Amino acid sequence: MAKKQIRELYASKLRELYERGEFWEIKRVLSPAGPRAVVEGREVVVLASNNYLNLANDPRLKRAAIEAMEKYGWGPGAVWAIAGYHEILAELEKKIAEFKRTEAGIFFPTGFAANAGTIPALVDQGDLILSDQLNHGSIIDGIRLSRAEKIIYNHCDVVDLEDKLRKNRDKYNKVLIVTDAVFSMDGDIAPLRDIAKLAEEFNAVLYVDDAHGDGVLGDGHGTPAHLGVEDKVDIHMGTFSKALGSSGGMIGSDREIIEYIRNRARTWLLSTGPPPAVVAANIKAIEIVMSPEGNERIRRLHANAEYFRKGLQSLGFNTGKSQTPIIPAIIGDTKKTRELAKALFEEGVFVVPIVYPMVARGTERIRNQVNADHTREDLNKALSAYEKYGRKLGII
Ligand SMILES: *Cc1c(COP(=O)(O)O)cnc(C)c1O
Repeated sequence: MAKKQIRELYASKLRELYERGEFWEIKRVLSPAGPRAVVEGREVVVLASNNYLNLANDPRLKRAAIEAMEKYGWGPGAVWAIAGYHEILAELEKKIAEFKRTEAGIFFPTGFAANAGTIPALVDQGDLILSDQLNHGSIIDGIRLSRAEKIIYNHCDVVDLEDKLRKNRDKYNKVLIVTDAVFSMDGDIAPLRDIAKLAEEFNAVLYVDDAHGDGVLGDGHGTPAHLGVEDKVDIHMGTFSKALGSSGGMIGSDREIIEYIRNRARTWLLSTGPPPAVVAANIKAIEIVMSPEGNERIRRLHANAEYFRKGLQSLGFNTGKSQTPIIPAIIGDTKKTRELAKALFEEGVFVVPIVYPMVARGTERIRNQVNADHTREDLNKALSAYEKYGRKLGII
């Protein structure tokens, strides 16, 4: 194809995205990530960040990173599997195991890479993956990269899951059940107790992605701890990029399973890991989350979530099934959702409009995520802006 023709092809695809309202307008952030930040030159209350415990700009994480950089240098130099890894990575993997309360742990460059590498490592041709309808994109891609068959079950629907297990279990060798623990668009929690029972009954492997539960639920240890099913989950996936305020993915499991993943996950084997500074900051982040201070931050986070959820509800907004610091205001209309997000930003409240195809049509929403260090003043500022523009746009 002629260069010009190729360019025109993608230019027209890009225009289609604009026209369908699926183009991401990405804002520029001019300050560290915090409960408040400077975004596009404006001081705003941030309700759009995963930095639940306000650790992203913590001086102790920065200090740990600087010390590691001075000791080990900046770049990792090569893929860990080939040139060996710094002792500090072994220390982080021990911390991951402590955090996930498993025998062993493995660190990945990102949470996405953890799912994209681990899922295909665990299943083969002749195996089946049962996946919740609303699982994260990195799980969906991990499934696509695997050679197993997949069946999607209705969101958090254990009756449907059981039915699909009953009808299909005998046709496959291994079965992997995979689910987000906390769903990122609704802030609802997967029924892990019932899912774990089914995994036991049907002899399936249970894989739980706790990206939004790590550092938030179960005294910070995550959703399986919160629901008392830590032992029933076989593969504990998590990320450092949310409540832990850093970057990187993790898996906790039994020693042999972790070593098998290390030897088979291509996103671990064939991709260079993050700099030692990131590894050191992650060790510090886990230490803080597991300390009494971490517990205090988690307590403040939930108090803020409760306050903001009740506040939105009493204004007449629909917050859906939210049980966590992810609190949607469900509008059900793309145009109004975008207009409201824009108006809120102009009032100094930074939120993200979530529209089709990220959520089903008719459930377009603004997603709010609260922070342990939001003050009541911050949350009240956001609630008054919601009240003013919710009325103006005829939503409440
Ligand atoms: C954010 C997220 C991921 C990806 O984690 P990163 O560390 O940001 O790559 C995976 N799964 C879920 C459910 C997530 O919310």
